[in-house]
Amino acid sequence: MIIVKNIEELLKHTKNLDSVGFVPTMGALHQGHLSLIKRARDENRTVIVSIFVNPTQFLEGEDLDKYPRRDLADIEICKRADVDILFMPTVESIYFEDELRVEAPAIRGFILEGSRRAGHFNGVLQVVMKLFNIILFNRPKSLRAYFGKKDAQQLALISQMVKDYFLNVDIIPCEIVRDSSGLALSSRNAYLSADEVKEALAISRSLKRASKLVMQGVLDTSTIEREMRDVMKNLDIEYIAFVNRDFKKIETIELKNSTILVACIVGETRLIDNIWI
Ligand code: AMP
Repeated sequence: MIIVKNIEELLKHTKNLDSVGFVPTMGALHQGHLSLIKRARDENRTVIVSIFVNPTQFLEGEDLDKYPRRDLADIEICKRADVDILFMPTVESIYFEDELRVEAPAIRGFILEGSRRAGHFNGVLQVVMKLFNIILFNRPKSLRAYFGKKDAQQLALISQMVKDYFLNVDIIPCEIVRDSSGLALSSRNAYLSADEVKEALAISRSLKRASKLVMQGVLDTSTIEREMRDVMKNLDIEYIAFVNRDFKKIETIELKNSTILVACIVGETRLIDNIWI
């Protein structure tokens, strides 16, 4: 595995590539990230993983400084997963002074996560656009980029950016990986105490309850939301939302075309989860 820390070096190692599988991450890798890397390994000649804690997607007062950083462990994980190139750029090599900005779309980019974290998706799209362009620079035969359904709104917006900006990238959505108790894996779970982990389980339980209701034929979202709130009655719920795959809000579940999303604060930690129905 080659570890590269700046763009010039990356460009040296990306000449004449056939199919490339790219997994962008912010590090503190867990089985969720690993499932994306494995899929990229299975489907492509070359696998590139990036680890970059992107400052522009953190708002004032968010956890940029305390975001978990585990470079040495991450390097080991990537080596073992047979990654070809690990790209770990510095902030200075990615961002310039007074640079041009990519903006999230006015509606989809500013509801739900984008409303609670206004400007967050501008930063996500800015960095993903840069990473895609760096890898596309030497024209690989194909580029597939792997993203988790865990961040459903991020996935929808990146897919939209690829379409709206005519980028030659295939976006591959990957299933949410959970621990044996149902908690969706997240680098931020590291902030949770043992008691908070137990409390957080109500989130996935509420989503399971929702899916069971849908299987029983309950499609009205307000009924489903009431039941979900009951399961999560001890949690500080930020939102429960129902959208279709275009990320438009819905009042009736559309089978095979709906996503139910939850954001909660557990202790001091903000957790998100969702289910695709
Ligand atoms: P992050 O490092 O949090 O930016 O995540 C990098 C990628 O891993 C994103 O595409 C996430 O959606 C994905 N990811 C994070 N957690 C999970 C999970 N539990 N299951 C599947 N994918 C995940």
